[in-house]
Amino acid sequence: MKKKVFCGNVPIGGGSPVTVQSMTNTRTTDIEGTVSQIISLEEVGCDLVRCAVPDIESARAIREIKKKIHIPIIADIHFDYRLALESILMGADGIRLNPGNIGTSLNVKEVVTACKDSGIKIRVGVNSGSLKQDFLDQYGGVNKHSMVESALQQVSIIEKCGYDNIVISLKSSDVRLTYDSYKLMNEKNDYPLHLGVTEAGTFINGTIKSSVGIGSLLLEGIGDTIRISLTDDPKNEVLVGRKMLQFLKLRPYGPNIISCPTCGRTKINLEKIANEVEDRLKGSKKDISVAIMGCIVNGPGEAKEAEIGIAGGNGYAMLFKKGKIIRRIKEDEIVETLIEEIQKL
Ligand code: SF4
Repeated sequence: MKKKVFCGNVPIGGGSPVTVQSMTNTRTTDIEGTVSQIISLEEVGCDLVRCAVPDIESARAIREIKKKIHIPIIADIHFDYRLALESILMGADGIRLNPGNIGTSLNVKEVVTACKDSGIKIRVGVNSGSLKQDFLDQYGGVNKHSMVESALQQVSIIEKCGYDNIVISLKSSDVRLTYDSYKLMNEKNDYPLHLGVTEAGTFINGTIKSSVGIGSLLLEGIGDTIRISLTDDPKNEVLVGRKMLQFLKLRPYGPNIISCPTCGRTKINLEKIANEVEDRLKGSKKDISVAIMGCIVNGPGEAKEAEIGIAGGNGYAMLFKKGKIIRRIKEDEIVETLIEEIQKL
């Protein structure tokens, strides 16, 4: 089992539920805008949030932001160790940096000591696009070995400073390389792993790449916290991440809507009904399966695991529970009736 570390009050690793994180895309110095984005991320189930800290003003903004949000905040630092020190002073719950790129070993020691004193975790990691030349030369280019060894070097710098509240990430935009690298790292030590396919792209491409890359690792029990990287509203990163955990049965996250793909037997507007039901159930915390099926012949049987569902006829649908037909509903009353019945469950 992986070591358990804490980011604020949220545990990562050690058998804790897999957490979902995202990153703001506002200027961190825009306190109001950043807080409002974080609150909207909290509303869709974000567990941890990361903010870019490119300058000292951004680091200073963390204190005010923290007062108005309810989830732990991680400062994303590159190159300047003073930004890490200031972020820690301002109350950041975690730091994401690579010790190899923040200056001298004295600077690193100072940052690690500050993390140690505040008990905050450090995420170190590598990105396939920025591996150092000596690793590329030694391991024959960008591959799982250069990725893992490069990250381990960063880890060992922190360990040498006597600290081990570490989370590791190994990001690449290549799904297979991401998968292979995390698999290899998983065998090497017991630090929790932050999973992500980086620069995964726009909503559909990014969702598919992340689902394949992160999903296959999670299925194997690998991964302690995830970030879905999308060129999209960060809220969608959280929604996709939460759904991924829900469908892998790693964390409950409200109703699971099952709907059939429709075929020549479908005689109701199933797509519209499924979308409306999904919309009406947004925000519901009920851990149930709801089936929206196109026909009475196959529907209830195919969805017999669902707590409740409908199966379409010609201008009507049958309401069913656990595969058993209960009663008939007119087509224009399907959504309303289903929602009412779900509320009673
Ligand atoms: S449930 Fe019925 S309508 Fe839907 S795809 Fe299957 S056979 Fe076709």
